[in-house]
Amino acid sequence: ASVVKELIENSLDAAATQITVEARSGGLGLIRVADNGVGIGCGELEKAFERYATSKVSSLSDLDSIRSLGFRGEALPSIAAVAGVETISCAGSELAGCYLRLKNGQVIEKGTRGSPQGTTVTVRDLFRDFPARLKFLKSSSTENGHISNMVSQYSLAFPEVRFTLIIDGRVVLKTPGNGSLRDALVQVYGVETARAMLKVTSPQVSGLISPPELSRSSRSYLSFFVNRRWVQSRILSRALEEAYHGLLMTGKHPITTINLSLPYEDVDVNVHPAKSEVRFRQEQRVFTLIHNAVRMALMEQMPVPMLRSEPSRETPVSLPIERMEVISMPEAEERLVEPPPGESPPPRIPILRVLGQLSNTYIIAEGPDGLYLIDQHAAHERVLFERIWQGRAGRGVEVQGLLEPITIEVTARQGEILRRRWESLADYGFAIEPFGERTYLVRSVPSVLGGHNLTQKVLEVIDSLDEGDASPDWEERITISLACHGAVKAGQQLSDAEMKELVRQLEQTSSPRTCPHGRPTMVHLSSWQLEKGFGRR
Ligand code: ADP
Ligand code: MG
Repeated sequence: ASVVKELIENSLDAAATQITVEARSGGLGLIRVADNGVGIGCGELEKAFERYATSKVSSLSDLDSIRSLGFRGEALPSIAAVAGVETISCAGSELAGCYLRLKNGQVIEKGTRGSPQGTTVTVRDLFRDFPARLKFLKSSSTENGHISNMVSQYSLAFPEVRFTLIIDGRVVLKTPGNGSLRDALVQVYGVETARAMLKVTSPQVSGLISPPELSRSSRSYLSFFVNRRWVQSRILSRALEEAYHGLLMTGKHPITTINLSLPYEDVDVNVHPAKSEVRFRQEQRVFTLIHNAVRMALMEQMPVPMLRSEPSRETPVSLPIERMEVISMPEAEERLVEPPPGESPPPRIPILRVLGQLSNTYIIAEGPDGLYLIDQHAAHERVLFERIWQGRAGRGVEVQGLLEPITIEVTARQGEILRRRWESLADYGFAIEPFGERTYLVRSVPSVLGGHNLTQKVLEVIDSLDEGDASPDWEERITISLACHGAVKAGQQLSDAEMKELVRQLEQTSSPRTCPHGRPTMVHLSSWQLEKGFGRR
Protein backbone atom coordinates (compact mmCIF):
# COMPACT_ATOMS: atom_id res chain seq x y z
CA ALA A 1 0.00 0.00 0.00
CA SER A 2 2.88 2.39 0.68
CA VAL A 3 4.32 1.70 -2.76
CA VAL A 4 0.94 2.39 -4.32
CA LYS A 5 0.71 5.61 -2.35
CA GLU A 6 4.06 6.90 -3.55
CA LEU A 7 3.31 6.05 -7.18
CA ILE A 8 -0.12 7.69 -7.06
CA GLU A 9 1.40 10.81 -5.53
CA ASN A 10 3.90 10.96 -8.37
CA SER A 11 1.11 10.68 -10.92
CA LEU A 12 -0.85 13.44 -9.23
CA ASP A 13 2.22 15.66 -9.06
CA ALA A 14 2.61 15.03 -12.80
CA ALA A 15 -0.87 16.55 -13.29
CA ALA A 16 -2.42 13.31 -14.50
CA THR A 17 -6.16 13.28 -15.13
CA GLN A 18 -6.38 9.50 -15.40
CA ILE A 19 -4.70 7.06 -13.07
CA THR A 20 -5.07 3.31 -13.25
CA VAL A 21 -3.82 1.22 -10.37
CA GLU A 22 -3.50 -2.51 -10.60
CA ALA A 23 -2.47 -4.84 -7.77
CA ARG A 24 -2.11 -8.57 -7.58
CA SER A 25 -1.73 -10.72 -4.47
CA GLY A 26 -1.72 -7.79 -2.12
CA GLY A 27 0.93 -6.05 -4.21
CA LEU A 28 3.48 -8.82 -3.90
CA GLY A 29 2.55 -10.25 -7.26
CA LEU A 30 2.43 -6.95 -9.08
CA ILE A 31 1.74 -3.28 -8.65
CA ARG A 32 1.19 -1.13 -11.70
CA VAL A 33 0.33 2.56 -11.75
CA ALA A 34 -0.30 4.12 -15.15
CA ASP A 35 -1.00 7.80 -15.69
CA ASN A 36 -1.43 10.32 -18.48
CA GLY A 37 0.65 12.99 -16.76
CA VAL A 38 3.50 15.10 -18.07
CA GLY A 39 5.88 12.15 -18.33
CA ILE A 40 9.63 11.99 -17.77
CA GLY A 41 12.02 13.02 -20.51
CA CYS A 42 14.19 10.19 -21.89
CA GLY A 43 17.32 11.96 -20.74
CA GLU A 44 16.08 11.98 -17.16
CA LEU A 45 14.44 8.63 -16.66
CA GLU A 46 17.51 7.04 -15.14
CA LYS A 47 18.12 10.09 -12.99
CA ALA A 48 14.64 9.83 -11.50
CA PHE A 49 15.79 6.60 -9.84
CA GLU A 50 18.79 8.20 -8.18
CA ARG A 51 18.57 8.84 -4.48
CA TYR A 52 17.28 12.35 -3.59
CA ALA A 53 16.67 13.19 -7.24
CA THR A 54 13.54 15.30 -7.46
CA SER A 55 12.14 17.76 -9.98
CA LYS A 56 9.88 19.33 -7.38
CA VAL A 57 12.27 21.52 -5.45
CA SER A 58 14.30 24.09 -7.32
CA SER A 59 15.40 26.46 -4.61
CA LEU A 60 16.01 26.19 -0.89
CA SER A 61 13.07 28.45 -0.16
CA ASP A 62 10.71 26.02 -1.92
CA LEU A 63 11.15 23.79 1.11
CA ASP A 64 9.24 26.22 3.27
CA SER A 65 6.08 26.03 1.22
CA ILE A 66 5.76 22.67 -0.45
CA ARG A 67 2.97 22.43 -2.99
CA SER A 68 3.66 19.02 -4.47
CA LEU A 69 2.84 15.74 -2.74
CA GLY A 70 6.41 14.46 -3.16
CA PHE A 71 9.57 16.44 -2.49
CA ARG A 72 12.21 14.13 -1.08
CA GLY A 73 13.22 12.21 -4.18
CA GLU A 74 13.26 8.98 -2.24
CA ALA A 75 10.35 6.92 -3.45
CA LEU A 76 11.53 5.60 -6.81
CA PRO A 77 15.04 4.61 -5.65
CA SER A 78 13.68 3.02 -2.46
CA ILE A 79 11.16 0.94 -4.38
CA ALA A 80 13.71 -0.03 -7.02
CA ALA A 81 16.11 -1.14 -4.29
CA VAL A 82 13.80 -3.90 -3.07
CA ALA A 83 11.91 -5.03 -6.17
CA GLY A 84 11.94 -5.37 -9.91
CA VAL A 85 10.77 -2.12 -11.49
CA GLU A 86 9.86 -1.39 -15.07
CA THR A 87 9.07 2.12 -16.26
CA ILE A 88 7.79 3.37 -19.55
CA SER A 89 7.42 7.09 -19.83
CA CYS A 90 6.76 9.57 -22.56
CA ALA A 91 6.99 13.31 -22.05
CA GLY A 92 4.67 15.44 -24.16
CA SER A 93 7.52 17.02 -26.01
CA GLU A 94 9.04 13.72 -27.20
CA LEU A 95 8.13 11.55 -30.13
CA ALA A 96 8.66 8.18 -28.52
CA GLY A 97 8.68 6.98 -24.98
CA CYS A 98 11.55 5.37 -23.18
CA TYR A 99 11.90 2.28 -21.15
CA LEU A 100 13.95 1.37 -18.10
CA ARG A 101 14.15 -1.85 -16.14
CA LEU A 102 15.86 -2.19 -12.78
CA LYS A 103 16.22 -5.02 -10.32
CA ASN A 104 17.23 -4.55 -6.71
CA GLY A 105 18.71 -1.18 -7.56
CA GLN A 106 20.64 -2.09 -10.72
CA VAL A 107 19.68 -0.99 -14.23
CA ILE A 108 19.14 -4.14 -16.29
CA GLU A 109 17.70 -2.84 -19.51
CA LYS A 110 16.93 0.47 -21.18
CA GLY A 111 15.71 1.65 -24.55
CA THR A 112 12.92 3.42 -26.37
CA ARG A 113 9.32 2.28 -26.55
CA GLY A 114 6.28 3.59 -28.31
CA SER A 115 3.93 4.98 -25.67
CA PRO A 116 1.22 7.59 -25.25
CA GLN A 117 2.10 10.57 -23.09
CA GLY A 118 2.39 9.65 -19.45
CA THR A 119 4.14 7.22 -17.18
CA THR A 120 3.60 3.58 -16.26
CA VAL A 121 5.53 2.09 -13.38
CA THR A 122 5.33 -1.66 -12.78
CA VAL A 123 6.69 -3.19 -9.59
CA ARG A 124 7.22 -6.94 -9.35
CA ASP A 125 8.68 -9.31 -6.80
CA LEU A 126 8.49 -6.76 -4.03
CA PHE A 127 10.77 -7.86 -1.17
CA ARG A 128 11.34 -11.22 -2.84
CA ASP A 129 15.01 -11.11 -1.92
CA PHE A 130 14.30 -9.51 1.44
CA PRO A 131 12.64 -12.19 3.56
CA ALA A 132 13.00 -10.17 6.75
CA ARG A 133 10.82 -7.43 5.28
CA LEU A 134 8.33 -9.85 3.74
CA LYS A 135 7.60 -11.12 7.22
CA PHE A 136 6.20 -7.74 8.19
CA LEU A 137 3.58 -7.68 5.49
CA LYS A 138 0.07 -8.64 6.46
CA SER A 139 -1.98 -11.20 4.54
CA SER A 140 -2.60 -10.30 0.92
CA SER A 141 -6.27 -9.64 1.57
CA THR A 142 -5.39 -7.20 4.34
CA GLU A 143 -2.88 -5.50 2.09
CA ASN A 144 -5.51 -5.39 -0.69
CA GLY A 145 -7.80 -3.68 1.79
CA HIS A 146 -5.15 -1.05 2.54
CA ILE A 147 -4.58 -0.51 -1.15
CA SER A 148 -8.24 -0.01 -1.93
CA ASN A 149 -8.56 2.35 1.00
CA MET A 150 -5.54 4.30 -0.19
CA VAL A 151 -6.84 4.67 -3.74
CA SER A 152 -10.31 5.53 -2.44
CA GLN A 153 -8.87 8.33 -0.32
CA TYR A 154 -7.00 9.85 -3.23
CA SER A 155 -10.02 9.58 -5.48
CA LEU A 156 -11.91 11.66 -2.92
CA ALA A 157 -9.13 14.22 -2.65
CA PHE A 158 -8.91 14.54 -6.44
CA PRO A 159 -12.43 14.16 -7.84
CA GLU A 160 -11.28 15.68 -11.14
CA VAL A 161 -9.00 12.69 -11.71
CA ARG A 162 -10.39 9.44 -13.10
CA PHE A 163 -9.18 6.64 -10.88
CA THR A 164 -9.50 2.98 -11.74
CA LEU A 165 -8.44 0.31 -9.29
CA ILE A 166 -8.09 -3.29 -10.37
CA ILE A 167 -7.35 -5.84 -7.68
CA ASP A 168 -6.55 -9.42 -8.67
CA GLY A 169 -8.19 -8.81 -12.04
CA ARG A 170 -11.41 -7.27 -10.67
CA VAL A 171 -12.28 -3.62 -11.11
CA VAL A 172 -13.08 -2.59 -7.55
CA LEU A 173 -13.20 1.18 -7.99
CA LYS A 174 -13.80 3.48 -10.93
CA THR A 175 -14.47 7.15 -10.39
CA PRO A 176 -15.85 9.43 -13.10
CA GLY A 177 -13.20 12.14 -12.68
CA ASN A 178 -15.75 14.85 -13.45
CA GLY A 179 -14.70 17.07 -10.58
CA SER A 180 -17.71 16.31 -8.40
CA LEU A 181 -16.80 15.08 -4.94
CA ARG A 182 -20.28 13.64 -4.49
CA ASP A 183 -19.92 11.58 -7.65
CA ALA A 184 -16.56 10.24 -6.49
CA LEU A 185 -18.14 9.44 -3.16
CA VAL A 186 -20.84 7.38 -4.84
CA GLN A 187 -18.13 5.05 -6.04
CA VAL A 188 -16.38 4.86 -2.70
CA TYR A 189 -19.27 4.72 -0.22
CA GLY A 190 -22.32 3.97 -2.37
CA VAL A 191 -25.22 6.00 -3.76
CA GLU A 192 -27.30 6.26 -0.63
CA THR A 193 -24.51 7.49 1.56
CA ALA A 194 -23.31 9.95 -1.07
CA ARG A 195 -26.81 11.32 -1.50
CA ALA A 196 -27.34 11.89 2.21
CA MET A 197 -24.08 13.71 2.83
CA LEU A 198 -24.15 17.39 3.79
CA LYS A 199 -21.98 19.96 2.13
CA VAL A 200 -19.39 21.98 4.02
CA THR A 201 -18.54 25.22 2.33
CA SER A 202 -16.55 27.70 4.26
CA PRO A 203 -13.68 29.61 2.72
CA GLN A 204 -10.98 27.24 3.96
CA VAL A 205 -12.89 24.08 4.71
CA SER A 206 -14.75 22.17 2.03
CA GLY A 207 -16.11 18.69 1.64
CA LEU A 208 -18.98 16.40 2.58
CA ILE A 209 -20.01 15.20 6.01
CA SER A 210 -22.65 12.73 7.13
CA PRO A 211 -25.84 13.90 8.85
CA PRO A 212 -26.08 12.62 12.43
CA GLU A 213 -28.44 9.77 11.58
CA LEU A 214 -25.85 8.29 9.24
CA SER A 215 -22.93 7.01 11.23
CA ARG A 216 -20.43 4.20 11.44
CA SER A 217 -18.95 2.27 14.28
CA SER A 218 -15.37 2.88 13.28
CA ARG A 219 -13.28 5.97 12.67
CA SER A 220 -12.03 4.68 9.35
CA TYR A 221 -14.58 6.78 7.47
CA LEU A 222 -13.02 10.06 8.49
CA SER A 223 -10.89 11.42 5.67
CA PHE A 224 -8.91 14.60 5.99
CA PHE A 225 -6.86 16.36 3.40
CA VAL A 226 -4.70 19.38 3.96
CA ASN A 227 -4.13 21.17 0.68
CA ARG A 228 -5.33 17.88 -0.83
CA ARG A 229 -2.68 15.81 0.89
CA TRP A 230 -4.30 12.86 2.70
CA VAL A 231 -3.31 13.17 6.35
CA GLN A 232 -3.99 11.54 9.67
CA SER A 233 -4.37 14.16 12.32
CA ARG A 234 -5.50 13.96 15.91
CA ILE A 235 -6.31 17.66 15.96
CA LEU A 236 -8.54 17.45 12.93
CA SER A 237 -10.37 14.36 14.20
CA ARG A 238 -10.88 15.97 17.57
CA ALA A 239 -12.22 19.17 16.05
CA LEU A 240 -14.60 17.13 13.96
CA GLU A 241 -15.85 14.88 16.75
CA GLU A 242 -16.31 17.93 18.91
CA ALA A 243 -18.50 19.45 16.20
CA TYR A 244 -20.71 16.33 16.29
CA HIS A 245 -20.78 16.40 20.05
CA GLY A 246 -24.19 15.49 21.39
CA LEU A 247 -25.45 14.41 18.00
CA LEU A 248 -24.07 10.88 17.81
CA MET A 249 -24.37 7.97 20.19
CA THR A 250 -21.20 6.95 21.95
CA GLY A 251 -19.13 4.64 19.85
CA LYS A 252 -20.52 6.13 16.64
CA HIS A 253 -18.47 8.14 14.20
CA PRO A 254 -19.40 10.23 11.20
CA ILE A 255 -18.39 9.75 7.59
CA THR A 256 -16.47 12.75 6.36
CA THR A 257 -14.30 13.90 3.51
CA ILE A 258 -12.86 17.27 4.32
CA ASN A 259 -10.18 19.34 2.70
CA LEU A 260 -8.54 22.14 4.61
CA SER A 261 -6.88 24.81 2.51
CA LEU A 262 -4.05 26.58 4.25
CA PRO A 263 -1.25 28.81 3.05
CA TYR A 264 1.55 26.37 2.16
CA GLU A 265 3.94 27.98 4.59
CA ASP A 266 1.54 27.33 7.48
CA VAL A 267 1.86 23.55 7.18
CA ASP A 268 5.00 21.52 7.77
CA VAL A 269 4.66 18.37 5.70
CA ASN A 270 8.14 17.16 6.48
CA VAL A 271 7.47 15.57 9.85
CA HIS A 272 6.56 11.99 8.96
CA PRO A 273 8.35 9.37 6.86
CA ALA A 274 5.23 8.64 4.84
CA LYS A 275 4.23 12.33 4.78
CA SER A 276 0.91 11.27 6.26
CA GLU A 277 1.13 13.53 9.28
CA VAL A 278 1.61 17.25 9.19
CA ARG A 279 2.33 19.97 11.69
CA PHE A 280 0.30 23.16 11.74
CA ARG A 281 1.79 26.47 12.60
CA GLN A 282 -1.40 27.54 14.36
CA GLU A 283 -3.02 24.44 15.80
CA GLN A 284 -5.73 26.22 17.71
CA ARG A 285 -6.79 28.15 14.65
CA VAL A 286 -6.97 24.98 12.57
CA PHE A 287 -9.07 23.34 15.26
CA THR A 288 -11.50 26.25 15.28
CA LEU A 289 -11.70 26.42 11.49
CA ILE A 290 -12.72 22.78 11.20
CA HIS A 291 -14.96 22.78 14.24
CA ASN A 292 -16.91 25.87 13.24
CA ALA A 293 -17.28 24.94 9.60
CA VAL A 294 -18.57 21.47 10.42
CA ARG A 295 -20.82 22.59 13.23
CA MET A 296 -22.32 25.28 11.05
CA ALA A 297 -22.94 22.86 8.20
CA LEU A 298 -24.67 20.49 10.62
CA MET A 299 -26.84 23.20 12.15
CA GLU A 300 -27.91 24.62 8.83
CA GLN A 301 -28.70 21.42 7.06
CA MET A 302 -29.73 18.95 9.67
CA PRO A 303 -33.07 17.52 8.71
CA VAL A 304 -34.26 17.02 12.31
CA PRO A 305 -34.49 19.71 14.96
CA MET A 306 -31.82 19.41 17.64
CA LEU A 307 -34.15 19.54 20.61
CA ARG A 308 -33.42 16.03 21.75
CA SER A 309 -29.67 16.27 21.67
CA GLU A 310 -27.76 16.53 24.91
CA PRO A 311 -26.41 19.98 25.77
CA SER A 312 -23.09 20.75 24.18
CA ARG A 313 -20.02 20.70 26.33
CA GLU A 314 -19.86 24.46 26.69
CA THR A 315 -23.12 24.49 28.68
CA PRO A 316 -22.31 24.50 32.39
CA VAL A 317 -23.49 21.40 34.18
CA SER A 318 -25.92 22.47 36.86
CA LEU A 319 -25.51 19.63 39.31
CA PRO A 320 -25.21 21.18 42.80
CA ILE A 321 -21.89 20.57 44.49
CA GLU A 322 -23.48 18.89 47.54
CA ARG A 323 -25.08 16.28 45.38
CA MET A 324 -21.80 15.59 43.65
CA GLU A 325 -20.35 14.79 47.05
CA VAL A 326 -22.80 12.02 47.58
CA ILE A 327 -21.26 10.12 44.76
CA SER A 328 -17.63 10.84 45.51
CA MET A 329 -17.20 8.38 48.33
CA PRO A 330 -13.92 8.00 50.15
CA GLU A 331 -13.62 4.28 50.73
CA ALA A 332 -13.30 1.57 48.17
CA GLU A 333 -16.46 -0.38 48.92
CA GLU A 334 -18.48 2.77 48.54
CA ARG A 335 -17.46 3.26 44.95
CA LEU A 336 -20.39 4.19 42.82
CA VAL A 337 -19.26 2.25 39.82
CA GLU A 338 -18.30 -1.29 40.53
CA PRO A 339 -14.93 -2.44 39.23
CA PRO A 340 -14.94 -4.93 36.36
CA PRO A 341 -15.19 -8.64 37.10
CA GLY A 342 -12.04 -10.33 38.22
CA GLU A 343 -11.46 -7.65 40.84
CA SER A 344 -12.58 -7.80 44.44
CA PRO A 345 -16.38 -7.90 44.61
CA PRO A 346 -17.94 -11.03 43.15
CA PRO A 347 -19.27 -10.41 39.65
CA ARG A 348 -22.75 -11.64 40.53
CA ILE A 349 -25.47 -9.13 41.21
CA PRO A 350 -28.24 -9.52 43.76
CA ILE A 351 -31.86 -10.12 42.85
CA LEU A 352 -33.27 -6.75 41.83
CA ARG A 353 -36.79 -5.34 41.85
CA VAL A 354 -37.58 -3.06 38.93
CA LEU A 355 -39.11 0.28 39.90
CA GLY A 356 -39.22 2.15 36.62
CA GLN A 357 -37.36 3.70 33.72
CA LEU A 358 -35.39 6.94 33.68
CA SER A 359 -34.94 9.02 30.51
CA ASN A 360 -35.99 5.96 28.51
CA THR A 361 -32.40 4.84 29.04
CA TYR A 362 -31.85 3.55 32.57
CA ILE A 363 -33.79 0.98 34.52
CA ILE A 364 -34.28 1.98 38.13
CA ALA A 365 -34.18 -0.99 40.47
CA GLU A 366 -34.02 -1.73 44.15
CA GLY A 367 -31.70 -4.33 45.64
CA PRO A 368 -31.07 -5.62 49.15
CA ASP A 369 -28.64 -2.71 49.61
CA GLY A 370 -29.91 0.43 48.01
CA LEU A 371 -30.62 1.64 44.52
CA TYR A 372 -29.38 0.42 41.14
CA LEU A 373 -29.47 2.28 37.87
CA ILE A 374 -29.01 -0.09 34.96
CA ASP A 375 -28.02 1.08 31.51
CA GLN A 376 -30.55 -0.77 29.36
CA HIS A 377 -28.36 -0.88 26.27
CA ALA A 378 -25.22 -2.02 28.06
CA ALA A 379 -27.17 -4.63 30.03
CA HIS A 380 -28.82 -6.03 26.94
CA GLU A 381 -25.45 -6.10 25.16
CA ARG A 382 -24.06 -8.25 27.95
CA VAL A 383 -27.01 -10.64 27.76
CA LEU A 384 -26.82 -10.98 23.98
CA PHE A 385 -23.04 -11.27 23.98
CA GLU A 386 -23.12 -14.29 26.24
CA ARG A 387 -26.01 -15.85 24.36
CA ILE A 388 -24.26 -15.55 20.99
CA TRP A 389 -20.91 -16.63 22.39
CA GLN A 390 -22.40 -19.79 23.85
CA GLY A 391 -24.52 -20.44 20.77
CA ARG A 392 -21.45 -20.15 18.61
CA ALA A 393 -19.55 -22.66 20.73
CA GLY A 394 -22.36 -25.15 20.18
CA ARG A 395 -22.86 -23.98 16.56
CA GLY A 396 -26.35 -23.01 17.51
CA VAL A 397 -26.67 -19.34 16.63
CA GLU A 398 -30.33 -18.55 16.02
CA VAL A 399 -30.97 -17.59 12.42
CA GLN A 400 -33.68 -15.43 10.99
CA GLY A 401 -34.49 -16.08 7.34
CA LEU A 402 -35.72 -13.04 5.41
CA LEU A 403 -38.87 -13.44 3.35
CA GLU A 404 -37.64 -10.69 1.09
CA PRO A 405 -33.87 -10.64 0.84
CA ILE A 406 -32.40 -7.20 1.39
CA THR A 407 -29.81 -5.76 -0.94
CA ILE A 408 -26.79 -4.02 0.44
CA GLU A 409 -24.42 -1.82 -1.44
CA VAL A 410 -20.87 -2.17 -0.20
CA THR A 411 -17.69 -0.16 -0.52
CA ALA A 412 -14.52 -1.71 -1.91
CA ARG A 413 -13.31 -2.19 1.62
CA GLN A 414 -16.51 -3.81 2.86
CA GLY A 415 -16.42 -6.05 -0.23
CA GLU A 416 -12.95 -7.24 0.77
CA ILE A 417 -14.15 -8.02 4.27
CA LEU A 418 -17.11 -9.98 2.91
CA ARG A 419 -14.92 -12.04 0.62
CA ARG A 420 -12.48 -12.77 3.42
CA ARG A 421 -15.06 -13.68 6.07
CA TRP A 422 -17.54 -15.41 3.85
CA GLU A 423 -17.71 -18.77 5.56
CA SER A 424 -17.28 -17.49 9.06
CA LEU A 425 -20.14 -15.04 8.62
CA ALA A 426 -22.32 -17.99 7.64
CA ASP A 427 -21.50 -19.61 10.98
CA TYR A 428 -23.11 -16.62 12.64
CA GLY A 429 -26.28 -16.87 10.62
CA PHE A 430 -25.54 -14.51 7.74
CA ALA A 431 -26.44 -15.76 4.26
CA ILE A 432 -24.98 -13.13 1.97
CA GLU A 433 -24.45 -13.65 -1.73
CA PRO A 434 -22.92 -11.50 -4.45
CA PHE A 435 -25.41 -9.70 -6.67
CA GLY A 436 -23.57 -7.46 -9.09
CA GLU A 437 -20.34 -5.61 -8.72
CA ARG A 438 -20.97 -3.74 -5.49
CA THR A 439 -24.22 -5.26 -4.41
CA TYR A 440 -24.96 -8.24 -2.23
CA LEU A 441 -28.18 -10.03 -1.31
CA VAL A 442 -28.74 -10.82 2.32
CA ARG A 443 -31.03 -13.83 2.77
CA SER A 444 -30.67 -14.42 6.46
CA VAL A 445 -29.22 -12.72 9.51
CA PRO A 446 -28.64 -13.76 13.13
CA SER A 447 -31.98 -13.38 14.93
CA VAL A 448 -30.50 -11.05 17.53
CA LEU A 449 -30.41 -8.28 14.93
CA GLY A 450 -34.20 -8.05 15.02
CA GLY A 451 -36.24 -6.59 12.20
CA HIS A 452 -35.53 -2.86 12.01
CA ASN A 453 -32.86 -1.08 10.01
CA LEU A 454 -31.33 -4.34 8.92
CA THR A 455 -29.41 -2.83 6.03
CA GLN A 456 -27.66 -0.35 8.26
CA LYS A 457 -26.99 -2.98 10.93
CA VAL A 458 -25.52 -5.49 8.49
CA LEU A 459 -23.20 -2.83 7.06
CA GLU A 460 -22.11 -1.79 10.52
CA VAL A 461 -21.37 -5.35 11.53
CA ILE A 462 -19.23 -5.71 8.40
CA ASP A 463 -17.41 -2.50 9.28
CA SER A 464 -16.69 -3.74 12.75
CA LEU A 465 -14.68 -6.57 11.22
CA ASP A 466 -12.29 -4.14 9.58
CA GLU A 467 -8.83 -5.16 10.68
CA GLY A 468 -7.72 -1.58 10.66
CA ASP A 469 -9.31 -1.20 14.04
CA ALA A 470 -7.24 -2.27 16.98
CA SER A 471 -9.34 -4.86 18.72
CA PRO A 472 -9.30 -8.45 19.89
CA ASP A 473 -9.65 -11.43 17.62
CA TRP A 474 -12.40 -11.28 15.10
CA GLU A 475 -14.76 -13.87 16.64
CA GLU A 476 -14.94 -11.74 19.70
CA ARG A 477 -15.33 -8.65 17.55
CA ILE A 478 -18.25 -9.98 15.57
CA THR A 479 -19.93 -11.22 18.74
CA ILE A 480 -19.54 -7.81 20.36
CA SER A 481 -20.78 -6.12 17.24
CA LEU A 482 -23.84 -8.36 16.92
CA ALA A 483 -24.66 -7.86 20.58
CA CYS A 484 -24.32 -4.12 20.19
CA HIS A 485 -26.53 -3.95 17.11
CA GLY A 486 -29.11 -6.32 18.52
CA ALA A 487 -29.44 -4.61 21.90
CA VAL A 488 -32.18 -2.16 22.79
CA LYS A 489 -31.00 1.39 22.35
CA ALA A 490 -30.86 4.19 24.81
CA GLY A 491 -33.95 6.33 24.39
CA GLN A 492 -36.23 3.39 23.77
CA GLN A 493 -39.23 3.05 26.05
CA LEU A 494 -39.53 -0.36 27.71
CA SER A 495 -42.58 -1.91 29.33
CA ASP A 496 -42.41 -3.17 32.92
CA ALA A 497 -42.43 -6.72 31.66
CA GLU A 498 -39.54 -6.02 29.28
CA MET A 499 -37.48 -4.39 32.00
CA LYS A 500 -38.10 -7.26 34.40
CA GLU A 501 -37.14 -9.79 31.79
CA LEU A 502 -33.96 -7.91 30.92
CA VAL A 503 -32.89 -7.61 34.55
CA ARG A 504 -33.64 -11.30 35.13
CA GLN A 505 -31.49 -12.24 32.13
CA LEU A 506 -28.72 -9.93 33.26
CA GLU A 507 -28.69 -11.57 36.69
CA GLN A 508 -27.95 -14.86 34.99
CA THR A 509 -24.96 -13.74 32.95
CA SER A 510 -21.46 -14.51 34.09
CA SER A 511 -20.27 -10.87 34.12
CA PRO A 512 -23.40 -8.83 34.74
CA ARG A 513 -21.53 -5.72 35.82
CA THR A 514 -19.88 -4.81 32.54
CA CYS A 515 -20.93 -4.72 28.94
CA PRO A 516 -18.73 -6.51 26.38
CA HIS A 517 -16.91 -3.23 25.67
CA GLY A 518 -15.92 -3.13 29.35
CA ARG A 519 -18.18 -0.28 30.36
CA PRO A 520 -20.31 -0.64 33.49
CA THR A 521 -23.86 -1.89 33.05
CA MET A 522 -24.96 -0.43 36.32
CA VAL A 523 -24.40 2.21 38.92
CA HIS A 524 -25.14 1.41 42.54
CA LEU A 525 -26.11 3.83 45.26
CA SER A 526 -25.89 1.91 48.53
CA SER A 527 -28.21 2.42 51.52
CA TRP A 528 -25.24 3.90 53.35
CA GLN A 529 -24.67 6.43 50.59
CA LEU A 530 -28.33 7.36 50.55
CA GLU A 531 -28.39 7.87 54.30
CA LYS A 532 -25.23 9.94 54.20
CA GLY A 533 -26.60 12.02 51.37
CA PHE A 534 -29.78 12.78 53.27
CA GLY A 535 -27.89 13.66 56.43
CA ARG A 536 -29.21 10.65 58.35
CA ARG A 537 -25.69 9.65 59.30
P1 ADP B 1 9.68 12.92 -5.48
O1 ADP B 1 8.28 12.59 -5.82
O2 ADP B 1 9.86 13.18 -4.02
O3 ADP B 1 10.25 13.99 -6.33
P2 ADP B 1 10.28 10.26 -6.47
O4 ADP B 1 11.41 9.35 -6.18
O5 ADP B 1 8.93 9.80 -6.13
O6 ADP B 1 10.59 11.63 -5.74
O7 ADP B 1 10.32 10.64 -7.99
C1 ADP B 1 11.50 11.20 -8.54
C2 ADP B 1 11.18 12.08 -9.70
O8 ADP B 1 10.73 11.28 -10.79
C3 ADP B 1 10.08 13.09 -9.48
O9 ADP B 1 10.59 14.27 -8.90
C4 ADP B 1 9.56 13.32 -10.90
O10 ADP B 1 10.34 14.26 -11.55
C5 ADP B 1 9.79 11.99 -11.58
N1 ADP B 1 8.57 11.18 -11.63
C6 ADP B 1 8.28 10.13 -10.85
N2 ADP B 1 7.09 9.60 -11.19
C7 ADP B 1 6.59 10.35 -12.19
C8 ADP B 1 5.39 10.31 -12.97
N3 ADP B 1 4.43 9.39 -12.75
N4 ADP B 1 5.23 11.25 -13.94
C9 ADP B 1 6.17 12.19 -14.14
N5 ADP B 1 7.33 12.27 -13.45
C10 ADP B 1 7.55 11.37 -12.48
MG1 MG C 1 7.32 10.87 -5.20
